[in-house]
Amino acid sequence: MPVAGSEVAKMLPGRKQCKECGFPTCFAFAMKLASGGATVDKCPYLSDEVKAKLTDLLAPPMKLVTLGQGERKLEVGDEEVVYRHEKTYHHEPGIALLISDKESDEKVEEKIRKVKELEFPWVGLTLKADLLAPYFESGDKGKFLALVKKVYASELGMILISEDMDALFSARDVSADRNPLIYPVTSENIDKAIPKIKEKPTPVGVRGKSVEELVSLTMKLKDAGIEEVAIDPGSRNPMEAIRDQTFIRKAAIKRGFRPLGYPTIALPCFMDGGKLKEALIASAFIEKFAGIIVLSDFDQYSLLPLLINRLNIYTDPRFPMAVEEKYYEVLEPNEYSPVLVTSNWSLTYFVVSSAVEAAKVPSFLCVKDAEGLGVLTGWAAGKFTGEGIGAFIKKSGIADRVKHRKIVIPGKVSRIKGELEDALDLKWEVVVGPREATEIGKFLPGFAKTVKG
Ligand code: SF4
Repeated sequence: MPVAGSEVAKMLPGRKQCKECGFPTCFAFAMKLASGGATVDKCPYLSDEVKAKLTDLLAPPMKLVTLGQGERKLEVGDEEVVYRHEKTYHHEPGIALLISDKESDEKVEEKIRKVKELEFPWVGLTLKADLLAPYFESGDKGKFLALVKKVYASELGMILISEDMDALFSARDVSADRNPLIYPVTSENIDKAIPKIKEKPTPVGVRGKSVEELVSLTMKLKDAGIEEVAIDPGSRNPMEAIRDQTFIRKAAIKRGFRPLGYPTIALPCFMDGGKLKEALIASAFIEKFAGIIVLSDFDQYSLLPLLINRLNIYTDPRFPMAVEEKYYEVLEPNEYSPVLVTSNWSLTYFVVSSAVEAAKVPSFLCVKDAEGLGVLTGWAAGKFTGEGIGAFIKKSGIADRVKHRKIVIPGKVSRIKGELEDALDLKWEVVVGPREATEIGKFLPGFAKTVKG
C-alpha cells in the first residue's frame, strides 16, 4: 500500500528547512521519499529510531528474494500490485524440478539435463525452467548429500527440501555458496533453525499449517533479522492453495501487511493428481501469485505451455515486446548475402527471421528500434522512417559486413524508399521487398542472385 508523502513529512525534522538533503523543504523531501525517488540517509538530522521507522514504512510491500547466484540467479517477489492490469508484475515465478534421493542415478541425470538444457527460443527470447529441488525422502542422509553434491556440480540454483533438520543444514553447508533456499522452516523447528540459518544466511522457505501460523513464523524470523524468506501456507488442496495465495497477495499489497509481504512457494509436486493435473495446477499458480513453483517432473510438452503462460502474464502490458536494435545473422551469411530491414516488435522479428530461415538464404536482418511497434504501425507513428532507418544502418556496422550495397525494405513501407536512399547518401540501392513475410520465400532466392551479381 503506497505511503502518503504527508505521512512521511510528519516524521521529518520540519523546522530546519536546511536543504542539506538536496530538496528545498522537508515536505519536498518527504514527497520524494514516498515516491521512492530518495533514501532516508540523505537527511542528516534523523535519529536512528526515526530512520528505522521510515525505512520500514517505505519498504516495498513484498520483499525481493534472491536464490542462486551468477548467471542462474533468480529474483522473486517485489510485486506492487495484485492484478497485472493495475501496473505490471516484476519477477516471474521460478519453476523448479523436484529430484528425490530415492530416484535412480539415470533419472537424476535426466532431470538435471532437463533444467540445464531444455530451452525454447520464443520471439527472440529463450524460455527455460530455473531451479532444481533435491528432496530428502530416502531416510539416508548420505544419499541425500550425494544428490545435493551432484546438483551443486550442475551450477543450477537449488531449493533444498528436507523434513530432517540435520540433513537440511548439512546440505546447506555443502552448497551455501550457491545461495540455495532451504525448506521447510516450521513451528516445530524454528527455534533450533534460527541460529543455524544465521551461521550461513541463505534464503529460507517457511511452511505454516495455515496463513495465521505463517504470520507468527515470519514475525519471529524478522525479529531474528532473517528476511530472505519465501512462504508456504501449507495447503495441499489446489482450491485451498489458490485461495491462500490470493489472500496472502491481497494482505501484502492492499493492506500493507508486512508479515505476509514475501514471495510464496507453491508445491504442486506434493498435490495428488498425476502429471497433467500437476501442470494445470502449476499454470493456475503462475496466474495466482506464486513466487516459486516446484514440479515433480515435466517434459517439453508440459513445460512449454507453462513457460509461455508465464511469459504472457509477466510481460509488461504497458510496453510491446521488443528485440534489441542491431543486425542479426540468419543462418550463416557472408559478404554477398542479402540485407533486409524490419522493425523490432518481437513478433515481426520472429516471423521475418523464420521466413528467411525457411527460404534457406543466409541473410542479415537489420532490426530498427520502432519502440516495439510493427512495420506499418511504426511508420504511422513516425518510429520507422527512412531517415531513422538510414541513421541506424550507418551506425550498425552492416556496411563492413557486406561488399554489395543493396538493402531490402518491407513492401508495406515502399513510400520510404526515396527518403531512405537520401538518408544513406545515395550509397545504397533500396529495394522494395514483399508486403507480407509469407512472400519472402518466393522473393529471397531470386534477390540473392542479384546481390552476388
Ligand atoms: S536535510 Fe532534513 S531537515 Fe534539512 S530540509 Fe532536508 S529533510 Fe529537512
